[in-house]
Amino acid sequence: KFITFEGIDGAGKSTHINFVQQLIEAQGISVIATREPGGTELGETLRSILLNQKMHLETEAMLMFASRREHLAQVIEPALAAGKWLISDRFTDASFAYQGGGRHLSIDKLNALENWVHPHLQPDLTFLFDVPISVAKARLDATRTLDKFEKEDAEFFNNTRNEYLRRAQEFPQRFRVIDSTRSIEEIRDELRDIVENLIAS
Ligand code: C5P
Repeated sequence: KFITFEGIDGAGKSTHINFVQQLIEAQGISVIATREPGGTELGETLRSILLNQKMHLETEAMLMFASRREHLAQVIEPALAAGKWLISDRFTDASFAYQGGGRHLSIDKLNALENWVHPHLQPDLTFLFDVPISVAKARLDATRTLDKFEKEDAEFFNNTRNEYLRRAQEFPQRFRVIDSTRSIEEIRDELRDIVENLIAS
């Protein structure tokens, strides 16, 4: 199974990835945890370029998908072919949300890239950690030094968030929107239910 974690910066997705990994491993299933952009040696190099350099929006989108192509070839496809479980911190929904929603790259171009790089593969389950922008910003300010993307303004994050929510409505069979304003314990209870259902399915 392929599980992805999505959400705007500061929504709390990283907090919950370890927990979900442990939940699955506790059932005797081994899980590969990976991330995008990144997940391979080349992908991590692309990540540091993406996070630190200014570039044309289309260059950014293509490098995101270049990182993804390598990630699919080296990590995701072999793991799924071997029947393993995989959890990825971001995948293609992030490109639609950030480069599409946030930066206004056309959905046609994003669809073309997606159809090129993974025409058939979709995650089995996508957690969308959702919070209002004000909450996300307060969390980011409290916890870390910001990368290039995290310095964007509220309108950018609102558009990014809205595109995530729009995709969650478009693909309700795989998306689970997690209200991430709640306490970590409450969120964990919900994650536990969802993961147990997936394991039983
Ligand atoms: O998930 P993480 O916070 O590590 O992602 C690194 C940065 O890359 C984030 O600031 C995120 O906003 C940005 N990003 C992006 N477009 C993507 C994936 C990530 O702008 N497709």
